[in-house]
Amino acid sequence: MKKLVSVVVPAYNEAANIWQISKAIDQVFECLPAYDYELIVVNDGSTDETMQVIGEIKALNPKFFYLEFSKNFGHQLAVKAGIDHAKGDCVISMDCDMQHPPEMIPELLAKWEEGYEVVYTIRKEDRRLSYTKRITSKMYYKFINSLADIGLESGSADFRLIDRKIANIMMNLQENEPFLRGLSRWVGFRQYGIKYDPAKRFAGKSKYTLKKMLRLALHGVTSFSIRPLYFAAYLGLTFSLLSLLYVPYVMYSLYTGSKVSGWASVIMTIVFFGGLQLCILGIIGIYIGKMFMQTKDRPNYIIRSTNITLYR
Ligand code: UDP
Ligand code: MG
Repeated sequence: MKKLVSVVVPAYNEAANIWQISKAIDQVFECLPAYDYELIVVNDGSTDETMQVIGEIKALNPKFFYLEFSKNFGHQLAVKAGIDHAKGDCVISMDCDMQHPPEMIPELLAKWEEGYEVVYTIRKEDRRLSYTKRITSKMYYKFINSLADIGLESGSADFRLIDRKIANIMMNLQENEPFLRGLSRWVGFRQYGIKYDPAKRFAGKSKYTLKKMLRLALHGVTSFSIRPLYFAAYLGLTFSLLSLLYVPYVMYSLYTGSKVSGWASVIMTIVFFGGLQLCILGIIGIYIGKMFMQTKDRPNYIIRSTNITLYR
């Protein structure tokens, strides 16, 4: 029997790209007679004609499935929903905009057949991106790796193949905001990374605003590590110890009767520590916020419509 490969594609206002990606995937699998495929497009609350295009393709291609969210839940949850509803022996997730080359699918499958259970991809440095974007991305991966021991490689993308075993584990993860790049490393198993050259976005603009990117970055760190909390504690301890150095000076001034001078230094200290305290409170707040969101136990996403039979 042929093995079934599920391809999960999140789409947020990608009406101009869905035809292209679905054709490209169909062509790739025409050359892979050993596999059957299903394509699951997850419409993440698009406000353009994405749903209309989905309807057109669905009418023509019986291997085409869709999930429509009731609103925009974000890229990570869109991929997660696709994985939750996939029935393949392995699941490949990739972007809708052709930046993740569909021609690489045979390579991912070949590694899977070799026995690797997670085949992830690493984006080679894209010269088209601005210098600052490249530097900040590199710095981010250094930062997250120094805080959380998950060994994320610089340029890790949400273009990967996971075996059914991992898909089942992902399905049972009820994290409020899953950080799939980290989670797919965290699960362990046999992993293999393939480098690739990102292509140009086929149509439209990036849907990752700076705000969304920052959120994902911060989320990546705080969902894998509580080291920022330790950092805050150590920082507090260091400053308390440092302040002890001031005691001999104050004692000496008292003893000799000279005035302890320094309006400027007092104000500086108040402002500095005021800022530091707010910053540390913020760090603690982020963790408490995450706990709050998680304890409410709301569903991670809400499906408005689908042509997949639920609870298969
Ligand atoms: N995406 C999504 N929900 C969002 C933002 C993005 O489903 O809120 C999808 C988008 O349609 C695309 C993928 O996530 O298929 C990656 O987004 P994009 O190409 O805009 O990000 P970039 O490649 O610029 O980082
Ligand atoms: Mg993109």
